[in-house]
Amino acid sequence: MEEKKIYIIGAGLSGLVAALELEKAGLSPVILEASDRVGGRMKTDEIDGFRLDHGFQVLNTAYPEAKKYLDLHALQLKTFDPGAVIFDGKDSYVITDPLRNPLKIVGMAFSKVGTFLDKVKMFSLTQELKKKSNEEIFAEPSIPTHQYLKQYGFSDQIISNFFKPFFRGIFLEKHLNTSSRMFEFVFKMFSLGHAAVPARGMGEIPEMIKRQLSTTQIYFNSPVRSVEGTRITLENGDQLPADRVIIAVQPDRIMKQLQGQFAPARTVVNLYFSTQKSFLARPMIGLLPSGQLVNNLVFMDDVSEAYSSNGRSLLSVTVLESHLTEKELVKAVQAELESISGIKAEYFKPVKQYHISYALPHVDDMKYSIPHTECKIVDQVYLAGDYLLNGSINAAMTSGRTAAEAVIHSFMPTH
Ligand SMILES: Cc1cc2nc3c(=O)[nH]c(=O)nc-3n(C[C@H](O)[C@H](O)[C@H](O)COP(=O)(O)OP(=O)(O)OC[C@H]3O[C@@H](n4cnc5c(N)ncnc54)[C@H](O)[C@@H]3O)c2cc1C
Repeated sequence: MEEKKIYIIGAGLSGLVAALELEKAGLSPVILEASDRVGGRMKTDEIDGFRLDHGFQVLNTAYPEAKKYLDLHALQLKTFDPGAVIFDGKDSYVITDPLRNPLKIVGMAFSKVGTFLDKVKMFSLTQELKKKSNEEIFAEPSIPTHQYLKQYGFSDQIISNFFKPFFRGIFLEKHLNTSSRMFEFVFKMFSLGHAAVPARGMGEIPEMIKRQLSTTQIYFNSPVRSVEGTRITLENGDQLPADRVIIAVQPDRIMKQLQGQFAPARTVVNLYFSTQKSFLARPMIGLLPSGQLVNNLVFMDDVSEAYSSNGRSLLSVTVLESHLTEKELVKAVQAELESISGIKAEYFKPVKQYHISYALPHVDDMKYSIPHTECKIVDQVYLAGDYLLNGSINAAMTSGRTAAEAVIHSFMPTH
């Protein structure tokens, strides 16, 4: 094939996967990335002997796309214990494995979160979802998750004590308005796989895809201002003519005609504290069903020791909504941590806060995949990114592959 100039805008997971697929077809794309490294929303900083992921996120080992593009063994995945520690005021209790082995949970422990009937329903939902393909799940009618849970017959008790705090932390919204399709998909993934992080942080995931690239050129610190037809204009004014363009970022930022077409994204605040030692002392997520600010927390070094190399523990706290200043937020969260752990507020030493204004896209019509014919936006310009399907690692990877397929297909002779 004669040398074609293919530009990919964005080096997040979708852009990286697109590049990998293009390379497999013998093409050599160029990635233009605004920041100084790959990964987009999935990055890990190293600060004061800690590894800080940009926002608490996990890889589910059952994601089909992750198995395609990642060597899960080489990532040295560290898995969470399934289930959660529920903090109920000063009380706390553990529910082990509710999404996989609900019937195995001891009655006493479960009675604090739900009813016997909930347990049976959890079991039957697990069985039903295992029989459905992911495509079938996303072809189901979409209703808000909170409505789905009621319709399925779950009690108010288990909805408030478990489903709400658990899925709020995944959907990054308080009311579980997210589509039931996403609920079913996530529920199924958790019943088949494990939540995990690479030993050295989530940033290892995009780095692993980057290492597989050999003929792709990546230009960092190269923000794109606009794309008109196949003409790319960088923020510095340089213009780049292209044969094909893949826009692997929500395109309203660079295509004027799309401005105002997307609903605001989900935001989140992730606070890190260091402590002398973990008060959970297990690789498990902590949920606060009636937390004022804190929705969920986890000691990252309980999951993977490499998250801390300075002898202290690293606590990651997720806050869904806050209008407080950084200082006020630290104080309020420290007070909440004291109230659940009994450890004095000042022993939670602030490390860093990440205010993530674009965490998950708002997607009305969630999909598992789209045909490659649907990702063309104008002639020779194609779209990739999780916002096309659903906000997940799996979707970002799928969208990257689909856009690459569209580009490859566009070079094929038509008859
Ligand atoms: C806090 C948080 C928690 C999450 N939790 C999970 C989870 O537990 N499980 C899960 O599956 N998913 C989770 N996700 C979602 C997952 O991280 C994303 O779906 C995925 O990383 C999106 O990849 P992407 O390539 O579509 O977009 P992005 O990662 O946003 O990549 C876009 C890239 O384009 C670059 N860019 C932007 N504008 C320009 C421009 N003008 N010019 C050039 N480059 C530009 C950006 O710098 C970025 O590198 C979470 C996300 C966040 C933020």
